Amino acid sequence: MTDVSHGVVVTGAARGIGRAVAELYAERGWRVLSADVNLPPVLRGQRRVKADVSTAAGRERIVRAAREMGGVQVLVNNAAFQGAHGSVLDVSERGWARTLGVNLTAPLLLTRALVDLLPRGAAVVNVASVQGLFAEQGNAAYNASKGGLVNLTRAMALDLAPRGLRVNAVAPGAISTEGVLEAIADSENPEQTRRDYEDLHALRRLGTPQEVAKVVYFLGSDEASFLTGAIVPVDGGMTASFMMAGRPV
Ligand code: NAD
Repeated sequence: MTDVSHGVVVTGAARGIGRAVAELYAERGWRVLSADVNLPPVLRGQRRVKADVSTAAGRERIVRAAREMGGVQVLVNNAAFQGAHGSVLDVSERGWARTLGVNLTAPLLLTRALVDLLPRGAAVVNVASVQGLFAEQGNAAYNASKGGLVNLTRAMALDLAPRGLRVNAVAPGAISTEGVLEAIADSENPEQTRRDYEDLHALRRLGTPQEVAKVVYFLGSDEASFLTGAIVPVDGGMTASFMMAGRPV
């Protein structure tokens, strides 16, 4: 397959995993539309759009830019709000609504808005989390949003199969994104916190954004042509063991 004429839409592409995904597609010659509430960096061969995926106006901007790009073979629903910490007893209603709106409802509505631009053989890749498979204490909204996205991925796979579309998700472990590295640096004992994060994984290290991007790329490609409705952990073995999964850091 020559990738050169293909187009991909990546949400949340200003930094972290989304940015690594956009960079990988750009490197491999794809036309890339990076969408983010913060304007993404300029990459070669890439268009960018400032858009909040949780609003109808933001999604409309993405659809317009995708149409101008000339077609979409892959949609990567990656944008997420990770800021509403709190347990089931104290998470704010506002934080809950924002988390569900960005992480769960937006992938549904953006996919729906773009579906007529996706030809048979196209693919959607949702970026879920190990926290969609297991829960972390004190992070109820994020856990619920990612658990919802995991099963939404399966629902999308079933409902979009008649259109010849595949839908899969990745469930990353702890990845060395700016956000995770900042959280480690801001903790009381950064060295210990880093080790705690690393020890959640059988491979005893954090993953890199590029390692997640490569799996996203695979799921979106024809190499994965018989794969749909799958949730692929990219977690260094975290969820291979009940001893590691869900252990609070
Ligand atoms: P991040 O917070 O570093 O980046 C997320 C990007 O999404 C940001 O650029 C942000 O501006 C954008 N964004 C947020 N809300 C948006 C909105 N409403 N509309 C458009 N853009 C919006 O995140 P990350 O750590 O790179 O994570 C990327 C994805 O991977 C997320 O879905 C996250 O839940 C998932 N994930 C991350 C990790 C990790 O360890 N970093 C682990 C598991 C899953």
